[in-house]
Amino acid sequence: MAVCMIPPSYVFGSNVFVILGNKTAAIDAGSEGNSSYTVSRIRDALGGRPLDMLILTHAHYDHIGGVPAVVSEFGCTVYAGKDARAIADADSSITLCGDFDGTPVQIEVEELADGDVIDLGGCRLRVIDAPGHTAGGICLYDETSLDMFSGDTVFEKGVGRTDLPTGSHADMVRSLRGLANLQINRLYPGHGDCCDDGNASVRYAMRIMGMEK
Ligand SMILES: [Zn+2]
Repeated sequence: MAVCMIPPSYVFGSNVFVILGNKTAAIDAGSEGNSSYTVSRIRDALGGRPLDMLILTHAHYDHIGGVPAVVSEFGCTVYAGKDARAIADADSSITLCGDFDGTPVQIEVEELADGDVIDLGGCRLRVIDAPGHTAGGICLYDETSLDMFSGDTVFEKGVGRTDLPTGSHADMVRSLRGLANLQINRLYPGHGDCCDDGNASVRYAMRIMGMEK
């Protein structure tokens, strides 16, 4: 799986990833404030190819604020897990648009279900519901490479906050238990660096959550 990482150009942004299979996908879109940077980096990564889909790991504005710019540039379809409703409704109590000084954005979003597989050709991304940071957050697990795009559920050395609207400590505990059953090679998180031992990151997150000694 060929993955290009686009780190945020300023503090209120998320990592954006571009996956190049037979089809192409971007994971998350960063914030509104650096959307022209994000669009130009995605264009570079695509090397003249179209962008077939944009998949959002969850509803927070630092991951979705750049969606209108990405959609207007590439005309791609947008997908999300159960956070799709909050995103489509521009529910700022969940997207936290105001906290990021953003403009509310109305976006058409297709909802993905747990277990759905997105076949990009050379890469099959399985949707894994991972509530805890938000109620409808997802991880995307490549069944071929065993790599994972973890959004704000697990970071290289950290775990997503559970104190924001629709977040839940108990849900996060259950989500991490589920992830611990997978072999995870490379981890592509929503913020910070990637790493090559995703299982170590999940164990680290479990320790932070008080699940392991
Ligand atoms: Zn978040």
